[in-house]
Amino acid sequence: MESAAVLRGLGVTVRYLFRRPVTLQYPEQRPRVAPRFKGRHWLTLYEDGDERCVGCELCAIVCPAQAIYVKPAENTPERRVSKGERYAEEFQINMLRCIFCGFCEEACPTGAIVLGHDFELADYSRQALIYTKEMLTEPYPGASGRDPRREV
Ligand code: SF4
Ligand code: SF4
Repeated sequence: MESAAVLRGLGVTVRYLFRRPVTLQYPEQRPRVAPRFKGRHWLTLYEDGDERCVGCELCAIVCPAQAIYVKPAENTPERRVSKGERYAEEFQINMLRCIFCGFCEEACPTGAIVLGHDFELADYSRQALIYTKEMLTEPYPGASGRDPRREV
């Protein structure tokens, strides 16, 4: 009886020897996240470079962790930042509070805020984890790698 159990155990070991390992040698090997993975936020731009965010604060209202701060300002004929009446003069996300639920992306009426695939967000200070508008805005349209789903 005991030898049968040992053989069965050995059989399991041998079977797993020839299976592809599920562990990765991170960080040398990079994991591929699922397409709908919710990682670092981005504030996206239109093709012409205008900001999609219209400073409506819906994302801040819906955020269950109260991680978002938006300070809206009016567009003027001399200085037009977004296609709406307003834009976000300041925009902050406290990544220490964020639980990556994606509610902000769901609530955004212009598709401005998207959660991308970056997940290596560790840093050395609390201040560095409060992302500013400059840190959140993608450097050029499409740089975030996420297509906003909705148009104005
Ligand atoms: S992902 Fe969720 S917790 Fe994080 S900022 Fe958006 S709404 Fe708030
Ligand atoms: S990111 Fe979207 S929901 Fe948040 S303030 Fe800008 S337009 Fe409104």
